[in-house]
Amino acid sequence: MLIAVLSDIHSNLRALDAVLGSIGTVDEVWQLGDVVGYGPDPDAVVRRLVEAGAIGVKGNHDDAACGGSIEDFSPDARRAAEWTRTHIGDATLAYLAGLPEVLTPDGADFTLAHGSPRDPIEEYLDSKLAAQDSLAILETRHCLVGHTHVPLVFRERRGELERIAVDRESRVELNDGRAILNPGSVGQPRDGCPDASYLILDTTAGHATWHRVPYDIPGVQAAILAAGLPVRLAQRLSYGR
Ligand code: ZN
Repeated sequence: MLIAVLSDIHSNLRALDAVLGSIGTVDEVWQLGDVVGYGPDPDAVVRRLVEAGAIGVKGNHDDAACGGSIEDFSPDARRAAEWTRTHIGDATLAYLAGLPEVLTPDGADFTLAHGSPRDPIEEYLDSKLAAQDSLAILETRHCLVGHTHVPLVFRERRGELERIAVDRESRVELNDGRAILNPGSVGQPRDGCPDASYLILDTTAGHATWHRVPYDIPGVQAAILAAGLPVRLAQRLSYGR
């Protein structure tokens, strides 16, 4: 089975469309949260995910759009969350509110969470220690997380936990160890590469492959400014930071 795994789309329709256009034919689309926040097209992004039959989980920005706390948000993130709350339609609100915090798709040996399995909305899974703790409570073989906007893998093999940096076209085998996989961000990459990031799981062959796809960054920057969202949210897309 082929599964496209997308995370942190952040209301960036142009990036999402570039990704959906490049993934080819897949059996399923899974998304790891932060569907909205930062970007200018929340309703259209949700519509696109529904059309694609995507299943997935809720991120901290989705929670914020539904009235959740924005106390820990940066000033730009807070302004964007407030903008999102007043610019989404009822269908988008209902979709976001209905997302679970953790999901194990039928028949899959993967747990989906935005941050981590133990703290699905908030925790940044960016250290071996955090990865160890998550693997200890994981009820499936593998785990998929987002939230950091940086593609990354933690893999447990022969009792050792390794941290594997991944880049475009990186491939990681899944049959020889348990793994926590982060696809990177579709709509706001932060690993220094501005291209939209995602991964494809091939559960039959037992591997995950990362991909990057360029998209119309000037177009979304213009839309961010036209919406009155913070300028810095537009600028950072050029640098992938
Ligand atoms: Zn995010």
